[in-house]
Amino acid sequence: MKVGILALQGDVREHAEALTELGADVVRVRVPDDLAGVDALVLPGGESTTMSLLLQSSGLFEPLAERLTDGMPAFGTCAGMILLATEVLDGRPDQRSFGVIDLAVRRNAFGRQVDSFEASLDVAGVSGGPVPAVFIRAPFVERAGPDVEVLATVDDHPVLCRQGPVLTAAFHPELSGDLRLHSLFLGGL
Ligand code: GLN
Repeated sequence: MKVGILALQGDVREHAEALTELGADVVRVRVPDDLAGVDALVLPGGESTTMSLLLQSSGLFEPLAERLTDGMPAFGTCAGMILLATEVLDGRPDQRSFGVIDLAVRRNAFGRQVDSFEASLDVAGVSGGPVPAVFIRAPFVERAGPDVEVLATVDDHPVLCRQGPVLTAAFHPELSGDLRLHSLFLGGL
């Protein structure tokens, strides 16, 4: 199983380590040709406005949008979740997203703007106790559409969501050393 990681910006290495540890064949995706042969894609945390610009300047936006719309499984964390959402609030006016999970997300709106925090999440379908979650200037899910499954919440707000082959986390599972959410993603492939 070849799993791509969108590697234009953000915490690519941590995702690569987690996926490699779970036995995936990891490919860093920077240009359209890198998408060939990739079965699934992780979109990391970082800065969604910068990634949006780089997706367009690298020529990756359109071919990736096509793959995602065709149903390629994707796991977006934090900025990666913003990139996969249908609606981005408080984005840059020229910011683009792929719209493959029916979420309205507000950038930098979870907790105070400058805040980072950690939480323990009970995740539907994941055994072995609560999953640690690191939130860094996290996006807030303002609306989750009827086809979205909410797998975990913080104070009743969705933070881990799934719609078909698309999984999104408002936090950074790659920073906690707990591999269960990467494993959940790979298990669905
Ligand atoms: N605030 C960032 C953005 O808007 C996301 C933060 C993160 O990925 N840790 O893209």
